[in-house]
Amino acid sequence: MDMGVAAARVRRAAGGPSEAEVRADFPILSRELGGRPLAYLDNAATSQKPRQVLEAMRRFYERSNANVHRAIHALGEEATAAYEEARGKLRRFIGAASDGEIVFTRGTTESINLVASSWGGERLGPGDVVLLTEMEHHSDIVPWQLLRARRGFRLAAARVEDDGTLDLDSIRRNWDPGTKLVAVAHASNVLGTVNDVKALAALAHERGALILVDAAQSVPHMRIDVRDLDCDFLALSGHKAYGPMGIGALYGKEALLEAMPPWMGGGDMIRSVSFEESAWNDLPWKFEAGTPNVGGAVGLGAALDYADSLGLDWIAERELALSAYALARLGAMEGLALYGTAPDRCPVFSFNLGAVHAHDVAQYLDREGIAVRAGHHCAQPLMRRLGIPAAARASLAFYNTEEEIDRLALALEGASRFYA
Ligand code: PLP
Repeated sequence: MDMGVAAARVRRAAGGPSEAEVRADFPILSRELGGRPLAYLDNAATSQKPRQVLEAMRRFYERSNANVHRAIHALGEEATAAYEEARGKLRRFIGAASDGEIVFTRGTTESINLVASSWGGERLGPGDVVLLTEMEHHSDIVPWQLLRARRGFRLAAARVEDDGTLDLDSIRRNWDPGTKLVAVAHASNVLGTVNDVKALAALAHERGALILVDAAQSVPHMRIDVRDLDCDFLALSGHKAYGPMGIGALYGKEALLEAMPPWMGGGDMIRSVSFEESAWNDLPWKFEAGTPNVGGAVGLGAALDYADSLGLDWIAERELALSAYALARLGAMEGLALYGTAPDRCPVFSFNLGAVHAHDVAQYLDREGIAVRAGHHCAQPLMRRLGIPAAARASLAFYNTEEEIDRLALALEGASRFYA
């Protein structure tokens, strides 16, 4: 028996849910496409949602739907309680000190734009530097470029080494004294690299800078403790972590959020309004203008409960076994170039198959019922660094199976022959 499969069976025998039990929680995984069972390997784009999330949202809309914070009726109170309860769940999930540090947003993109606009809009100017890395997603590049056009600071990008890691010593050596913020992905959506953001936070603080962590790709896979990491801001998306789309959050240290101006104006974010002046609400509502995505927050809370019920350690262990299996299967394939070999990785595998275009690879796999992503993955500077126009990407979650990885490998062999 293959070592990866053997390890998975031993672990299941030692406790934790079975493969069938976990997969039964995700109705979509039992779909067939063109007569073939779906193998969903596009989890880095968005994860699937367990029925516990779907049921929580359905319950909310069927029983408690009302607007929050303003109503003096029972449903309004229920909706407000459900919304704020979800905030508390997220606060505990990432180890924040208070609910005031958890701002609900549409997701990682909006969270980073919030920091750029509100914090950066006041704090950055000529002579200042925002340090990114070559592996950033466009959502951690473009908001800073938009702000740079208004505020005239500089953007720098730390080099990605050939194995897909960042070299902390080189970042230290090349440190620009004007650096005010390091904005970095916790895990790369292309290379899978998990960056040592705790060490980066220590370096940034030692040099008088802040750090923003883009946790879009890490939250689904590992235990995050914002106080242990000592990050100043952390951005996340619910839909990549088994929750619904359109909900995510910004974590920010309370003192920083307190000192920042609102970034959007409207209902709920004010204490008082007159035509002469307005006063802002307390944290976190100061940053939540307008009707929030209450149903989404409820769904996110249910997703966090679900992950907790499996156990973050179990999830990490299961994904480690799947990753080892995928690396062994894909690594052994002739003509397949894998990008990113960092020792600390999340289960994301980007590759090219000889000279076959990544889109053709993805289309071939789609005909086999296998969903992968292909393209630049919203990381064009990284594609340039790797010297490729595009890559195909298989990204796993704990509900994937060794059998699906076998199907991927077999289909890739088929594609290789087909396009030869
Ligand atoms: N950052 C990383 C590393 C990502 O992978 C993604 C999405 O793929 C984002 C940010 C943006 O997330 P969202 O589209 O949910 O805002």
